[in-house]
Amino acid sequence: MAILFLLFGLIIGSFLNVCIYRLPRRESLAWPGSHCPQCGYVLKWYDNIPVLSYLILRGKCRHCRLHITWRYPLVEGLTGLLWLAAYLHFGLTWYLATRLVFIAMLLVIALIDMEHFIIPNIIVLPGAVLGLGFSLVPGAAGLLSALVAGLGAGLFFLLIWLIYPKGMGEGDIKLALMLGMWLAWPQVGVAIFLASLLGTVGSLVAIKLGWGDRKTPIPFGLYLAVGSIFALFYGPQLLATYLRLSGWQ
Ligand SMILES: [Zn+2]
Repeated sequence: MAILFLLFGLIIGSFLNVCIYRLPRRESLAWPGSHCPQCGYVLKWYDNIPVLSYLILRGKCRHCRLHITWRYPLVEGLTGLLWLAAYLHFGLTWYLATRLVFIAMLLVIALIDMEHFIIPNIIVLPGAVLGLGFSLVPGAAGLLSALVAGLGAGLFFLLIWLIYPKGMGEGDIKLALMLGMWLAWPQVGVAIFLASLLGTVGSLVAIKLGWGDRKTPIPFGLYLAVGSIFALFYGPQLLATYLRLSGWQ
């Protein structure tokens, strides 16, 4: 069963790559089939096997040898591993089914924000509604908790944005709303706290390595997505550890 979730994750990861490439370019997800952006070579089924094809072709187009980004096998592998981890963590439940959707959406948001510095409305707005609806699934936080956490997180980000508009994009406000709906309180707080921490460390490292300066934009959606994944799996434990370390408990 675990292997099945890993394999499904790998295949879904392949579809997520299509979303990550085409959604910001406003291209259709269904048509045309996967092809090389340079020579138009249409991928055969054996060119489209998650992770494996990339390794066999050594990261190049079969026809024109155009370099294929490592992000493709990364997204496939990550989706597979996270779906496997979710199955092992949550067990075979309806709650698991909804969290698999959440993980997939987070990966798409993270990778698009990393590349384009945008968070498309077409993902976060339906994502917020979906998170609210799925809060009714057994094991989830319930409608009221999700709604309060979503509106709370959204308003919190809106306030920061009003005070300091350059600090983040409007997309982050809508993403915070979506994350609250899915994670509820206090997990959404853990996700935002982790994201701020990772974002700060990430930009310090980037400056140190000479990849940018203090004016380089930060893909905060990427950090929010990473924080959310940790909060999803270990939210209560992380919060308890933090409270203990800071002397609150
Ligand atoms: Zn090609």
